[in-house]
Amino acid sequence: MPAVNTVSGPIDTADLGFTLMHEHIIVESPGVKENFPIIDREAEIDKAAAKLKDVMERGVNTLVDLTPGDWRDIPLVKEVVRRSGMQVIVATGIYWEVPHHFRSITGRNIDYIAELFVKDIQDGIMDTGVKAGIIKCATDEPGVTQDVERILRASAKAHRATSVPISTHTHAASEVGLKQQDVFESEGVDLSRVVIGHSGDTEDTNYLRKLCDRGSYIGMDRFGIDIFLENEKRIATIAKMCGMGYAEKMVLSHDAACYFGWVDPPLRERIVPNWHFNYIPDNVLPALREAGVTEDQIRTMTVENPRRIFEKQGAY
Ligand SMILES: [Zn+2]
Repeated sequence: MPAVNTVSGPIDTADLGFTLMHEHIIVESPGVKENFPIIDREAEIDKAAAKLKDVMERGVNTLVDLTPGDWRDIPLVKEVVRRSGMQVIVATGIYWEVPHHFRSITGRNIDYIAELFVKDIQDGIMDTGVKAGIIKCATDEPGVTQDVERILRASAKAHRATSVPISTHTHAASEVGLKQQDVFESEGVDLSRVVIGHSGDTEDTNYLRKLCDRGSYIGMDRFGIDIFLENEKRIATIAKMCGMGYAEKMVLSHDAACYFGWVDPPLRERIVPNWHFNYIPDNVLPALREAGVTEDQIRTMTVENPRRIFEKQGAY
């Protein structure tokens, strides 16, 4: 059976089970906690492990940590995995705020970036012994800039060299998912190996259908961030897409993090109180059922689609 690399080693794709396809263990701007005494590492590891155990008790088996390569803290993630027992898949890739080192002006080429991604996937990330199981790349409101395009192309090349799937960050309102697909297509990528992320931030089912009809999966992956789109609208959009036959193209997640440095915890609690890993099992799934989504369709989105995404293998 095909295997996928997790933080604790390879597992059979049949054992992925209920998978949250876009989450984070720790999100803090690169270099900040390495240079200022802003976090109590031990305490954060314990808190994170407790949150993973909580969601495991609710039937979630695997969490995909889509923190891009330049933002990762794999030693911390390793310890959280050891203490919680959760199956966690980590990513290689670069965020849309492209670090200077990878920009076009440096004279470094796209193959150089792709080779770093391939190394993370095939040999492991630095000296952690952990291999990346997915490639993350990102396009936000500024669109496919010259430097973002380099990262998308490097991701496509690393994907074709390794067969590891691609999962993206997008700004759904500006429909950049379609532009990402254009770049991937021009690199010969089979678009069914790609998840266009943050697609659940829009109710525009015409846009969502276009993404799916080209073969990609779409991430309905920001449950709990009501300030981007209210929960009722996210639920209604999924129910509508299921009704049109697209359950086989959607995956569910929160884009939540155990530790999130962008907002001070008291403020986070006030503006996005539902933004945590338990929200889908506790609230979203019952709401989907109420909206007419069947048990089969829920299983497709939470178990079968993630398995299919990781199961297709072989460089091409
Ligand atoms: Zn994310």
